Amino acid sequence: MRLLLVEDDTMIGEVVLDLLRAEHYAVDWVKDGEMADTALMQAQNYDLVLLDLGLPRKDGIEVLRSMRARKDRTPVLVATARDAVSQRIAGLDAGADDYVLKPYDLDELLARIRALLRRSAGRAEPVFEYNNITINPATREVAVAGAPVTLSAREWAVLEALISRPGAVLSRAQLEEKLYSWRDEVSSNAVEVYIHGLRKKLGSELIQNVRGVGYMVPKL
Ligand code: CA
Repeated sequence: MRLLLVEDDTMIGEVVLDLLRAEHYAVDWVKDGEMADTALMQAQNYDLVLLDLGLPRKDGIEVLRSMRARKDRTPVLVATARDAVSQRIAGLDAGADDYVLKPYDLDELLARIRALLRRSAGRAEPVFEYNNITINPATREVAVAGAPVTLSAREWAVLEALISRPGAVLSRAQLEEKLYSWRDEVSSNAVEVYIHGLRKKLGSELIQNVRGVGYMVPKL
């Protein structure tokens, strides 16, 4: 999952960035509204935007309005101060999908991100099941026939991207985007390596290769 963090406060930004990366999200961080516009328009395929509303150069509400005006439907979680009810209302009315209060409760922030990613994928159930495979995105627990399976962080990132859109074919490039943020190097066969690892652990049925196009997990 690839997230855009828009936060001008360096201390808060660093805490949130560390938190999200520890959860194995690929995160890009920008510190003002104009940079947020640029990042969003550079064809980065974000799964979610965590948007602070008080930003230099261009206000968060304006960033959000611009996104929705150009039909960018990326889920947006706005961050507002606890006492700023009018800001929360303005954010929701401008097209935010949910809001979270600052100062953050970090566990709540992660739970809201997971819930929003789940809703945007059209899944109400928190746990994904396929045949005898069970995958819980909240805890990152994976089991085959009840036996726990350990995945590497990047195997998890690939698997999470695929199960978030069952039935959709994701190209190698789309999967690479979920794996890396700007600071990371991309090796050319990385996605194949992780898919191979996942198939060894989960069996060959869950992740299907659509020749010449990409990979998918079947819709149930
Ligand atoms: Ca701010």
